[in-house]
Amino acid sequence: MSLTERLKDVHWSVFGFIAGYHVALLAAIPIYLLYRTPGWDLLLLTFLLMGATLISITMGYHRFYAHKTYKAKRLLEVPLLFFGTASIQGSALKWAHDHRLHHRHVDEEGDPYGTQKGFWHSHILWLFKKPGEWQERLVRDLQQNPVVMFQDRHYGLLATVTNVLIVITVGLITGDWLGAFVFGFLVRLFLTHHSTWFINSLAHMWGAKPYSTEHSAVNNFILAILTYGEGYHNYHHTFSGDYRNGIRWYQFDPPKYFIWLMSKIGLASDLQRVNRVQIHKKLVAADRKLMLDHLSDFAAEHVRVKEFVTRVERAYENLTDELSKMKMDLDRYRALKGEQAREEVRILKGQIREKRRSIRKEMRDWERLCKQVFRMRPQMA
Ligand SMILES: [Zn+2]
Ligand SMILES: [Zn+2]
Repeated sequence: MSLTERLKDVHWSVFGFIAGYHVALLAAIPIYLLYRTPGWDLLLLTFLLMGATLISITMGYHRFYAHKTYKAKRLLEVPLLFFGTASIQGSALKWAHDHRLHHRHVDEEGDPYGTQKGFWHSHILWLFKKPGEWQERLVRDLQQNPVVMFQDRHYGLLATVTNVLIVITVGLITGDWLGAFVFGFLVRLFLTHHSTWFINSLAHMWGAKPYSTEHSAVNNFILAILTYGEGYHNYHHTFSGDYRNGIRWYQFDPPKYFIWLMSKIGLASDLQRVNRVQIHKKLVAADRKLMLDHLSDFAAEHVRVKEFVTRVERAYENLTDELSKMKMDLDRYRALKGEQAREEVRILKGQIREKRRSIRKEMRDWERLCKQVFRMRPQMA
C-alpha cells in the first residue's frame, strides 16, 4: 500500500484525540508536579474512577453487551453505561460489534485487532484505521436495547458530558482543579485505555494456553492484574459464554466477583457458567494435541514414540468417555432433583461420587503421562 493510500485510510479524529491526549499528558505531568504534589484524596479518587471505568468495560461492554453472559437490570445497566461512556472507547454497540468480529475471526484477516499483524497493530494502531464494513447482523440483539441505542446516537456529546462531570466532581471534592483534569481525566484515560488494549495485544501473545491451542489467546496472571481480570484470555476465547474469566475463586477477576455480587442483590441474573465436565474435556483435548505434536517432532528418531502415541490415545479415549458419562449422570441428577424420586436420587448421588473419585485418579495418571511425554527428547533414542 502506498503512503497516500495509507494516509487516506487513517481515522484522523481518533488518531488526533489519542495522540493529542498522550502529548497533553506528557506535558501536563511535569508542569503539575513542578507546582504541586497530588493529595491522597486526588490519588484515591483517580484510583476509584479508574476501577469504575474499567469495571464498566469488562463487566459491562465486554461480558454483558458483547457476550451476554448474564442479564442485568436497568438500575445496573445505566451506571455501567455512564462509566463505559466516560472511558472513551466508543459506544457499547460499536465496541461489541468489533469484539464479536474479533471472536468470530480470531487471528484471521477479519479480526479487527488480530495479533497476526504484530503487537502495535493489536494494541493501538488498529484504532487509527478507518473502521471496516459495518455488519449489522452481528449486533441486531443490541439494537433492540433503547439505552444502548441512545448511547450510540449521542456518543460524542455523552462522552464529553460524563468526563466533564467527573472532572468537576473531583475538583469539588479535592479543591485541586488542575489535578482533577490531569489525574481525573488524562491519567485515568491513559491507564484505562492501555489496560484494555493489553487484552488485545499481550493477552494474545504472552502466557500459557491450558484450555485450547486453537487460538492465540493466553492465560497470564500478571495480565489479569493489568487488565482488571481479563488476563485469563485463553479460557475466555475457549468458553466466551461464561461470565467468568478466571474460573477458580482465587484467580484475580474483579468483574466475576462484581457480577456475582450484583446477582446476590437482585441486579443481575442468569449468570452463565460452563460446567466443569466440559472444561475438563477441553483441558484434556488441549493436552492431547500438545503431546501428539511433541511426539511427532521426533517420530523417526525415538523408538518409543509409537508406544507413547498409543498410550496417549487410549488414555484420552478412556478419560473423555468417563467425562461424558459423568455429564449424563449430572444431567439426570439435575432433572430428578426437583421430583419425588428420592431413592433414585440417592443412588445417582452415590454413582456420581464414585465417578468423581475415579476421574480424579485418571486425571492424575493423565498428568503423569503428560510429564513423561514432555520429558522425552530425541537424543534418548
Ligand atoms: Zn481476544
Ligand atoms: Zn470476549
